[in-house]
Amino acid sequence: MTDLEHFGHVIGGKEVDSHDGATFQSINPYTREPWAQVALGGVADAEAAVAAARKAFDEGPWPRMGYAERQRLLHRLADTMEAHADELASADSRDMGKPWNQCHHDVARAALNFRFFADHAKMAMADTLPMDTGHHAYTRYEPAGVVVAIAPWNFPLMLETWKVAPALAWGNTVVLKPAEDTPTSATILARLAVEAGLPEGVLNVVHGYGPQSVGEALTRDPRVDRITFTGETGTGRIISRAAAENLTPVSLEMGGKNCNIVFADADLENAVDWSIQSIFRNAGQICLSGSRLFVQRPVFDTFLERFVGKAEAMRFGDPLDPATEFGPLASEEHFRKVKGYVDTVEEAGGRMVTGGVGDGWFVKPTVLVDMPLDSPHVCEEIFGPVVVVHPFDTEDEVVALANESEYGLDAQLFTEDLHTAHRVAARLEVGTVWVNCFFVRDLRAPFGGVGASGVGREGGNFSREFFTEPKAVIMQINGEPRDRQA
Ligand code: NAD
Repeated sequence: MTDLEHFGHVIGGKEVDSHDGATFQSINPYTREPWAQVALGGVADAEAAVAAARKAFDEGPWPRMGYAERQRLLHRLADTMEAHADELASADSRDMGKPWNQCHHDVARAALNFRFFADHAKMAMADTLPMDTGHHAYTRYEPAGVVVAIAPWNFPLMLETWKVAPALAWGNTVVLKPAEDTPTSATILARLAVEAGLPEGVLNVVHGYGPQSVGEALTRDPRVDRITFTGETGTGRIISRAAAENLTPVSLEMGGKNCNIVFADADLENAVDWSIQSIFRNAGQICLSGSRLFVQRPVFDTFLERFVGKAEAMRFGDPLDPATEFGPLASEEHFRKVKGYVDTVEEAGGRMVTGGVGDGWFVKPTVLVDMPLDSPHVCEEIFGPVVVVHPFDTEDEVVALANESEYGLDAQLFTEDLHTAHRVAARLEVGTVWVNCFFVRDLRAPFGGVGASGVGREGGNFSREFFTEPKAVIMQINGEPRDRQA
């Protein structure tokens, strides 16, 4: 055990252990062996992190230094992350079993998050409203204060920076709590932030669990001004209730049971390729996964045959091997949850065309048909490489099926008909629609979900609205000169 790498909290610019010295281990899901020892925080550590962020906000230079200087430092942090890309990618890969190339993609996106939001904050326009009364009103975006960011384990570094980057760019200070299954890249990020010259206390990282621990303490702390959370819908409800006590604004990005609709006129090769990515990338552990796949009846059999062929051809293996396309599930607990669905397909009235449980914590790409529409496999978020495929006949029918879910994160649709694309995109009750593609992002666009999938939007100006206190200043601009008054 002595060769485990050690990862502390980073509080007030220093890497520290927990007050009580407690630690936990991060398990590599491929080897099923621990590879890192991590500080296990408690309430006292959460309080220390908030105190450091509060002090840095109330007394430190960060909120006062101006957009250009923050932009310079955040770009320097992005440069430093790119220089440490292998270390960051390896941390996420070992923590959660994600294939190496996907981890590198996430690191590049994480660095881009800092670059994009640093530039956006510097360049963003603010409304000035000429008024008929001889005044004008203009808008200032004041930093909100201390931001708590609580992250899930499926895109550790990428989703953490999706929150941390805009919060910092708009002049806030941050306490980041990564998921307990994927703690290590957050410590590396905070070390790099110190190296890049961010002042102490601007980015703090505290590790630990959620309920009755670090997570809960952070969401109940009255010194916190914003809470941004990504994770399960049930956790989002709990955080919402905790935040309500202090009237702390929350942004919640939560679960999904997303539909993927393939119309008969679609470019089938393109539809198959994106549909494979949509449900089997990251072993299906993507909130945006198209886990309910609806295929129009004339092409159902052809589509299914090609889709199953590509699913079966995916390369399993050691996630650290760049040739691997498909890794194990992120933890034993999660593997057991997904296995529970795979084991009950027939009992629920459906049929498995391909897939099933593999070695270790692997679940193979699994394709289900004939599943009753009210079965757990169709209604619940499995968050693994398991897709239910249904035929449909008409547009009205498939739109009704798609909208039946309590979730509404995103949808994909494949068609060569522009009218169908626009019409169906407008009718789907979701936060994002991808037409003939998947996973393509513009960081200016709103990102978030409808219903049980989310509260609020982040991205571009939407992140600005959340991470700042917009202020109206109303000025008289054509008053009489003083010497002509009275
Ligand atoms: P989770 O809700 O179990 O945990 C997320 C984070 O919340 C972790 O850091 C955890 O420690 C913390 N937490 C748990 N209980 C808490 C509490 N009572 N108070 C404060 N913090 C608490 O989610 P997960 O299993 O890590 O992630 C998977 C889920 O995330 C899936 O439902 C997935 O769809 C969702 N997700 C959504 C998006 C999106 O953008 N909408 C993106 C990725 C993942």
